[in-house]
Amino acid sequence: MTTILNPATQESLGEVREATRADVDHAVARAGDAQARWAAEAIGYRARSMRRIADTIRNHLEELALLETDNVGKPIADSRGEVSMVADTFDYYAGAVDKLVGQSIPVDGGVDFTLREPMGVVAVIAPWNFPLAIASWNIAAALACGNAVIVKPAEITPLSTLRLVELVDDLDLPAGLLQCLTGKGSIVGHALTEVAGVDKISFTGSTEVGKQISEVASGTLKRLTLELGGKSASVVFADADIERAARASVGAVFGNSGQDCCARSRMYVQREVFDQYLKAFADASRVAVMGSPRDESTTLGPLVSAQHHAKVSSFLSDDIDFVELGAEPEGPGNWFAPRIAVAPDRTHRLVEDEVFGPIATVLPFDTEEEAIREANNSIYGLSGSVWSGDGARALRVARGIRSGSISINSNTSVRIQTPFGGMKQSGVGRELGLAALDSYTELKNIFFATE
Ligand code: NAP
Ligand code: MG
Repeated sequence: MTTILNPATQESLGEVREATRADVDHAVARAGDAQARWAAEAIGYRARSMRRIADTIRNHLEELALLETDNVGKPIADSRGEVSMVADTFDYYAGAVDKLVGQSIPVDGGVDFTLREPMGVVAVIAPWNFPLAIASWNIAAALACGNAVIVKPAEITPLSTLRLVELVDDLDLPAGLLQCLTGKGSIVGHALTEVAGVDKISFTGSTEVGKQISEVASGTLKRLTLELGGKSASVVFADADIERAARASVGAVFGNSGQDCCARSRMYVQREVFDQYLKAFADASRVAVMGSPRDESTTLGPLVSAQHHAKVSSFLSDDIDFVELGAEPEGPGNWFAPRIAVAPDRTHRLVEDEVFGPIATVLPFDTEEEAIREANNSIYGLSGSVWSGDGARALRVARGIRSGSISINSNTSVRIQTPFGGMKQSGVGRELGLAALDSYTELKNIFFATE
């Protein structure tokens, strides 16, 4: 059994059992049966079922949000927003069930067309930072395409996912269509990656584990979507609205206590506005309220675990000039006050490695070419921003940065309707939007001879 902790209080939220290899085999067999039944159901039934999942999530929004808040340490307002997005994601993909269209292709001697067929059984291996949201982006797209799903939440944050699966069980869909297996990645996640009955893995987590999964999954040539780490850059030009850029940067790097794969943790600011930006960013950050995640006014919760707290703390070092932005609350939680590292050496690990905590790094640059070069100076390529009042320049820089998504004059990255994923070592494949449908279907070509 695993004891699940509240990271704000260190109190136990209960015990969750650890699945065994036999549980994995049993779940995979059930998922295979459920998938065949689900794919054979009428289109209207499948689309309505997806909408019923969305409705049941909305009807349990507060309960699911509280589970996320207590288990992850997320401010309650953020949890509500995430659960609401989860419901919207099921509605969005409900609309895709009858739009998985193929092509007809001109050929000699017959008629040729393509079909989009389900992959089969999909294992979704999810991280702890947005447990329900990230699992659901994948679950919803996979179900819409006619697949069955086994979800493996992060060992420390399984509660919201377990509850979602219970709620879906009550809807009387094919038994085993959506199952949850809890336990350790090294055991349960590994078994799902290895076992022959799983056809596809959608993994979101660290680049290191993503590489291991890629290796193990190659044994059965499973299809893979990998959403991995990031070290995204925000490039701020002197002609930008500096105050607006600085205010937007607070959420972009300290939101979810920095435990966000899209965090703009490297901010490159043109030298002539460097001091102005730094001051505006620090002032806006000081307004953040760190405290009990259940408190409506809280905007910053604790880090997810003591182990993660130790990892983030290891980035603090005396050779860096930090601006401290507030005090940690008293008490046993994994509190870590936000900080800005001012112009550290560019080869420092704080500039190169993913911190996954509330430490922003602000660095000066002079020219457009330098900004692009610095933004690209990373093994990662997930997200990023360009801030400028000159549209043509903003577009040039956005095109020059090697990353899966870039926002101009905005620090947002994720929308249900648009593709999301990484270049370089930030991942393989795309989630969300219509792009995700490609990664949950196999393309079959049929040739019908007419001569
Ligand atoms: P992680 O340690 O890589 O774990 C992610 C998931 O994989 C967990 O469910 C974990 O289980 C499981 N796992 C661990 N070892 C495994 C193995 N050998 N085989 C199969 N599964 C295994 O990542 P994390 O610490 O939860 O999350 C932080 C990382 O996720 C950061 O690097 C962040 O950037 C990345 N992330 C990326 C995105 C994106 O969309 N690109 C989104 C969110 C997070 P356990 O919990 O039992 O270890
Ligand atoms: Mg981990």
